Amino acid sequence: MTVETIQPHGFCMGVERALAMAAELRPPVFCLHEIVHNEHVVESLRKRGMAFVESLDEVPDGAMILFSAHGVAPAVRAEAVRRGLSIVDATCPFVERVHRAARAFAARGVPVVLVGRADHAEVKGIAGELSEFRVVASAAEVAELPFPPESCLGALCQTTMSHSAVHSVLDALRKRYPKLEAPPAADICTATRDRQRAVADFVRGGGDGVLVLGSAESSNTNRLVDVAREAGASFAARAGSMAEVRKLDFAGLHRLGVTAGASTPEEFLAQTVAALRA
Ligand code: SF4
Repeated sequence: MTVETIQPHGFCMGVERALAMAAELRPPVFCLHEIVHNEHVVESLRKRGMAFVESLDEVPDGAMILFSAHGVAPAVRAEAVRRGLSIVDATCPFVERVHRAARAFAARGVPVVLVGRADHAEVKGIAGELSEFRVVASAAEVAELPFPPESCLGALCQTTMSHSAVHSVLDALRKRYPKLEAPPAADICTATRDRQRAVADFVRGGGDGVLVLGSAESSNTNRLVDVAREAGASFAARAGSMAEVRKLDFAGLHRLGVTAGASTPEEFLAQTVAALRA
């Protein structure tokens, strides 16, 4: 079996930017949710004194709060201001662009269908901009939406969805709602799109296996596995640690491609590729 590194992979602009902002801060600093969905990155920041919290209630008045790359709902930001917290905002500009579009729909009173995972921090933040919305993750869910077909609806997407999933949902939405207003290019960020395209190209170019390194909580990591399967890979799996890599069975593969989610450190990829080659 040959082992190849799929390019591009790993840290994206939004993650690099969030980590650079975090590196400038001196403790005590609180970060709302994981700064990025990767336990190695979170652990190294924890060792340097950053405290990760799930709610502003855990943050003392006047303390410094870092908002992660996934962004926050306006109510959370308003609460932080009211509490006198010192805000450092690492929201990715791609996520902020979707927030702006959400605010524009809300200002016009247009209900929105948000394509994404309802339990993801990014989706919760965007949803916080909207008064009337539904979240759907697949084309099958479009038939269950409560809006009548003549409705004027807007559509927005989580930035890390898979390209094909978003387009199948948008197609289903356009069929059911002819007056749908959707962004001309779906909101999937360029980093996610380029990494998904590289995985699909690798499989279509003869790769029969894809290993995606990243955390189970990382949306873009999981979507890379979906893309590899959709492209026809006979093996597609995710691993977040060397222990998880060791549990995988690569028997029978000829060309294995290794890639990494946007929040996975390069060292982990290099270490994994070296171990697999050995
Ligand atoms: S995956 Fe995309 S949207 Fe998310 S932080 Fe990276 S660049 Fe930003």
